[in-house]
Amino acid sequence: MIVEMRTGATPDEIDSVVQRAKSLGMGVQLNLGTDKTVVAILGSNTGQLSTDIFAVLPGVDTVTRIMKPYKLASREFKTEDSLVSINGIEIGGKRIIVMAGPCAVESEKQLMEAARVVKNSGASVLRGGAFKPRTSPFSFQGLEEVGLELLARARKQFGMPVVTEVVDTHDVNLVSKYADILQVGSRNMQNFALLTAIGKSKNPVVLKRGFSCTVTEWLTSADYLLAGGNNQVILCERGIRTFEDSTRFSMDISSIPVIKRFSHLPVIVDPSHAAGHYSLVPAIAKAAVAAGTDGLLIEVHPNPKEALVDGIQSLTPSDFSRLMEELKPIAKSVGRYI
Ligand code: PEP
Ligand code: MN
Repeated sequence: MIVEMRTGATPDEIDSVVQRAKSLGMGVQLNLGTDKTVVAILGSNTGQLSTDIFAVLPGVDTVTRIMKPYKLASREFKTEDSLVSINGIEIGGKRIIVMAGPCAVESEKQLMEAARVVKNSGASVLRGGAFKPRTSPFSFQGLEEVGLELLARARKQFGMPVVTEVVDTHDVNLVSKYADILQVGSRNMQNFALLTAIGKSKNPVVLKRGFSCTVTEWLTSADYLLAGGNNQVILCERGIRTFEDSTRFSMDISSIPVIKRFSHLPVIVDPSHAAGHYSLVPAIAKAAVAAGTDGLLIEVHPNPKEALVDGIQSLTPSDFSRLMEELKPIAKSVGRYI
């Protein structure tokens, strides 16, 4: 249930709504907007409460029952777009933020070279997996803490924030020590213990869409992060599993405007894991920009032929640099810039 306070409602009036909700055993979250305060009433049985319980309180403007399972990620709770700010880089504003780098951190030489080329082409965040969620236990699992140390070195040398995946609840503190943005992978979108731990950690987080999950399930997972008090949440569309097998996953381009309609959270797109092949990445990235993405997460490897993971879908430095140029007029045509 969403309680919208009147413009100019006093702190006491807001507090009486909060106290009433708490007396009924409900949780609350406040959105202190520039004009109005919105109080989200959270609990499994809000459906059984009458809206009048809150509507009669002084200072209350409207009370709306939200039928969707997600609340804090919804536009009803927060009408204005959320911005996530990382070292002065804003995600969700006019500028489209590009995060790029290798699938996995493989060596110091590979990572530094990747960081150098993506920065020179205009990327503002460096990606690289230190913990890799692999389908087979026999595949390369990542350099783990050594990989995190290399990311921290690249961040310092190139002045770029880094995004890296955390796959296990026990590693949240460790990865947070090194990373500017934590990534929750597609396979972990519904790992609720991991989401709860990251929610408490308050680190900016990229929440990838589970490849067999609906937008509603995705936003409900985002609520786990938001309910923990972490409002630095960036959604990432990376393709879903369909009957189509000519690409690795099917890029659901429509989820971008759908997210913009139903949520205030920024959304970025990973064309690499959807495409599964380097030749398809540029077209999908351009479509995402045209559809209103707030950013891109792209795999780039200094030498894809030698990549330990996902070389086939990684762009070469020259392909990436060309793509960055080609994206500029598309961004401009939709009132954005790169
Ligand atoms: C990744 O970005 O490194 C990754 C493993 O992607 P996803 O979780 O989308 O498969
Ligand atoms: Mn990958």
